[in-house]
Amino acid sequence: MSLEGRRITIRGIVQGVGFRPWVYRLATASGVTGRVCNDTEGVMIEAFGDAHALEGFLKSLEGSRPPAAAIVRVECTAIPPEPAEGFVIIASRTADGRRVSIPPDLATCPECAADIADPANRRYRYPFTNCTNCGPRFTIARDVPYDRAQTTMAGFVMCAACAREYETVSDRRFHAQPNACPACGPHLTALAADGAPLAGDPLDVVGAALCAGRIAAIKGLGGFHLACDARQTFTVQRLRQRKRRDEKPFAVMVASVAAAERLADLTEVERRVLTSVERPIVLLRRRPDAVLSPAVAPRNPMVGVMLPYTPLHHLLMAAVEGPLVMTSANRSEEPIAYRNDEAIERLRGIADLFVVHDREIETRCDDSVTRVIAGAPVVLRRSRGYVPRPISVARRFAEPILACGALLKNTFCFGVGDAAHLGPHVGDLENLETFESYEGSVARMARFLRVEPLVVAHDLHPDYLSTRYALRRSAALRVPVQHHHAHVASAMAEHGLDGQVIGVAYDGTGLGTDGTAWGGELLVASYERFERLATFRPMALAGADAAIRHVWRLAFAAVLDAFDGDAPIDALPLFTAVAGRERLLVEQMMARGINTPLAHGAGRLFDAIGALVLGRAESAYEGQIALEWNMAADPAERREYPFAIDTGTTPWTFDWRPLVRHVVDDIRAHQPAARISARFHNTLARATAEMVHQAATRVGRLPVVLTGGVFQNARLAESIAGLLQDTFRVHLHREVPPGDGGIALGQAMVANSVVRARGGRES
Ligand code: ZN
Ligand code: ZN
Ligand code: FE
Repeated sequence: MSLEGRRITIRGIVQGVGFRPWVYRLATASGVTGRVCNDTEGVMIEAFGDAHALEGFLKSLEGSRPPAAAIVRVECTAIPPEPAEGFVIIASRTADGRRVSIPPDLATCPECAADIADPANRRYRYPFTNCTNCGPRFTIARDVPYDRAQTTMAGFVMCAACAREYETVSDRRFHAQPNACPACGPHLTALAADGAPLAGDPLDVVGAALCAGRIAAIKGLGGFHLACDARQTFTVQRLRQRKRRDEKPFAVMVASVAAAERLADLTEVERRVLTSVERPIVLLRRRPDAVLSPAVAPRNPMVGVMLPYTPLHHLLMAAVEGPLVMTSANRSEEPIAYRNDEAIERLRGIADLFVVHDREIETRCDDSVTRVIAGAPVVLRRSRGYVPRPISVARRFAEPILACGALLKNTFCFGVGDAAHLGPHVGDLENLETFESYEGSVARMARFLRVEPLVVAHDLHPDYLSTRYALRRSAALRVPVQHHHAHVASAMAEHGLDGQVIGVAYDGTGLGTDGTAWGGELLVASYERFERLATFRPMALAGADAAIRHVWRLAFAAVLDAFDGDAPIDALPLFTAVAGRERLLVEQMMARGINTPLAHGAGRLFDAIGALVLGRAESAYEGQIALEWNMAADPAERREYPFAIDTGTTPWTFDWRPLVRHVVDDIRAHQPAARISARFHNTLARATAEMVHQAATRVGRLPVVLTGGVFQNARLAESIAGLLQDTFRVHLHREVPPGDGGIALGQAMVANSVVRARGGRES
């Protein structure tokens, strides 16, 4: 047979994941010659052989790929044959530099996990074992291209055995940049609370300490964790006190899927997400018989579970018996600690001992969080394992854009070429430490991408630190983007939508163009513009932000409003539990409008009604009551409450007063909370569907996106999607958080439309 040639380009996550060695092995096995190299957007193969050999090769490329690879597109064209000698891997071409060629950190692969468990292996119990399929990437990278010399592994010189692996194409560690072994790589050290070294094998020391109920600070991939036995209430409680964390749930790490099954009944999808290379925390509904201290997630029916994702975790989990609390090492509200000295300094008085090592973390990266909604995962916090994987967008960025995000759970986004790069989670931008971490993270991503954007997008809110940062940064163009418009644009971008959509944006709060707090919005939007078609009837926030903590005030405002001066306050247990003096004060504040802004937030309605029915006067953290209220809903209950949509106003108003009156009736009739919650959710879903249908009569049957923090609520998202999907194409967030952690992407898209309208250059 005669010689033929093919050029195959593969797009997706194919760099830094062992893809070229895999292609090499397949080519050699199929008897084709040629070459493979990384190019700016993926991998390019030129293969030569007879038709039969080429066909076999192409077929094998569709077979089992390296676990961390994700292929978006494969193209194959015929090229003139060349008489090549064998098959070679060509060194990376990184001339363009317009993409982060650094992959996300990858969870330990099964082969490496087997290596460290095998007493005969030279990496037995070695916590820094990795290969081309797994190990640290983003968190150790100092610059691009992603080569060992540009990582925090630069100072470690490979021993002869490691160097041989690194240079052998057929080896699993061929070009594994962080390759290391006990002879040449980083090492663990256990330290006492004051930083003095502890004698003995660090793994044994920490294992024994954890079993004895101590709290350990353990250096991980993207920062330190605080770990303790998740079954010992006294210990978990002590961790809460020391960390000054009231009731926010802690995530737990378990050794295996089987161990996770003992905490929660897993669906197939949940099992898949738990074991994915990203290894996020997965929010699961806790089994009633789960052996877990209630202090792990007080009053929370869910539990965040993750599996080990570094060799150190595997070794640690083997040394202890049960699940471990694994929470970001910080005091409340501060960013995660990530450097040895800094950790010892900042975690003084929190950790009883430390497990540190000498491989530096270059970039902080918190654990990511996911939840399965409507049968597929939604990333609620997008960080370790996902960042800096680019999100490809349908519309090219006319020039590089930096979008600064909002306030809570913030991230930023760089739009460059046809990709958006969301940064790692930096937390709530409310203090100097977090702000500095944010600034540093922005600078690092700019360096990785080799861009210094002159277009900067930001929220409308003038007081957000992200806005102030945007205004201070030198820029040729600043684009303020309305909060909910950004939410909608973010959902559009993720699903490659262009043109107009009907956007349902439900969240806690975001500043509107009229200066009031929005948050229960139905927009008709494109990237260019939006129109606010409908909103929730506003609610009074007595004491502004204080009302969000003292949630009974929201319930109080809702009930007073719903009954128009004739409210049965004394018949409701929530209010009788509040001191009369306090009630009077709040009533006066509302009557006189003192420090009592009105807010349209859908999240506030969840807080108010949740507080009312569950009898909870206070919320320990943002979203606590809403989540409990959401989880309380009886899945079997089908009834709804009445509501009204006033189309005589601009925008239309969703009037929840009839709903509140019926909730009050149900409380007085001693209906169970599960039933009231279900009816409440059914009503909101029905009202939303009705508003969308109304909107469609005006603007046509456009695609619908559901966005905003409220859509972390699986029950609501699933019911709305269920009611609409026969008539509309409904999109939920998947890869990008529905909450404010995803908002920067939308800001970048909106800013891009402004640049394009001004005739911006192509980047
Ligand atoms: Zn591996
Ligand atoms: Zn070595
Ligand atoms: Fe928001």
